[in-house]
Amino acid sequence: MKNIVILGSTGSIGTQTLEIVREHPELNVLALAAGNNVDLMEKQIREFRPKKAVMWSEEAAKSLKTKIADLETEVLSGMEGMLDISIMEEAEVLVTAIVGMIGIRPTVAAIQAGKDIALANKETLVTAGHIIMPLAKKHGVSILPVDSEHSAIFQSLQGNPGNRLEKILLTASGGPFRGRKKEDLVNITLEDALKHPNWTMGRKITIDSATLVNKGLEVMEAKWLFDVDLDRIQVVVHPQSIIHSAVQYVDGSVIAQLGMPDMKLPIQYALFYPDRLPMDGKRVDLFELGSMTFEKPDTETFTGLALAYRAAKEGGSMPTVYNAANEKAVSLFLNRQISFLQIPEVIESCMDVHKKIENPNVDEILFAEAETYNYIGKKFVKGV
Ligand code: NDP
Repeated sequence: MKNIVILGSTGSIGTQTLEIVREHPELNVLALAAGNNVDLMEKQIREFRPKKAVMWSEEAAKSLKTKIADLETEVLSGMEGMLDISIMEEAEVLVTAIVGMIGIRPTVAAIQAGKDIALANKETLVTAGHIIMPLAKKHGVSILPVDSEHSAIFQSLQGNPGNRLEKILLTASGGPFRGRKKEDLVNITLEDALKHPNWTMGRKITIDSATLVNKGLEVMEAKWLFDVDLDRIQVVVHPQSIIHSAVQYVDGSVIAQLGMPDMKLPIQYALFYPDRLPMDGKRVDLFELGSMTFEKPDTETFTGLALAYRAAKEGGSMPTVYNAANEKAVSLFLNRQISFLQIPEVIESCMDVHKKIENPNVDEILFAEAETYNYIGKKFVKGV
């Protein structure tokens, strides 16, 4: 029996993780956390009977408490609640399926308590990779990638020492606006941007995929996870999303992982690593597929990707500013307060004014985030 805790259980990755649990009685859900979706949390608690459940707001926690008064699950709230369940004695793996930098503190706490991390929450690694990776090493815990590209890289590295790696080929679908130029993106609506060609995901990452900021975050995630310099991470647009990423070795061999676009595979691989267990579902049919194509990313139109390389090269607190500015800009776009093309503009402007802190600690990271939000509130949308 493997005891797991899931942060973000009501979201896209969270619910798919629970689908895996449903199919594997050897997984036990010890605790769940979500933001405000009390109704789905109640259903999940009734089915999986965790010891503890956390809602972000007090109000949601109160409402959940009333709804499950007949059950023994303890209800907690806020960051205190998330920190509590991240270090539960019996927990072995923390699945970080929460969205945004809010995942940093629970991830750090879980590592310090010796828990392995199945990491979907890339924003944590982008902003605090310099803290997370050495800490994981110190406490002997594994950071198991859930992101499909990083899982593909991880799978392609099996059986080969890391020092034989020449480069990482990080694939990207190109998102719904692949092939378009800046002038074609002026009147993009929220509905257009939410239509991803190959993947069904949460709203924030779907917008990040449309701007290619998601790929930028993934470049930084790969740098930390696999300890590879930026100039050895190459983004390759592959619209069919069948090759989930590849690695090139020093002898020129390229080893890739292929599969249908389905997040359940990387989630299951992370939960059972190093075992590879059976899984139902559609298989890749190479005859049906016929051909696969590859392109260079258009970083002049999708400047969010170029800005990610700039942030990663500058280092220190700059990736935090890149990420925080994007989180805020995407939430403004989702609220129809800024346009699609303003998302990278907001990011660039925040990076331009930021005074970089070298090697920031968690408090400094959170301070840089708050400062970025303040700046956006003054410069772009008053009072946000
Ligand atoms: P969703 O928006 O679908 O889900 C987010 C989850 O986090 C929900 O359960 C939400 O709760 C919860 N949440 C949000 N804010 C808080 C908070 N303050 N406290 C506690 N819980 C909170 O996101 P995704 O599942 O798409 O993405 C999750 C992470 O995984 C992101 O970092 C994303 O980049 C990454 N990822 C996602 C992929 C995907 O296919 N979806 C692929 C690869 C990586 P509520 O429902 O109540 O709001």
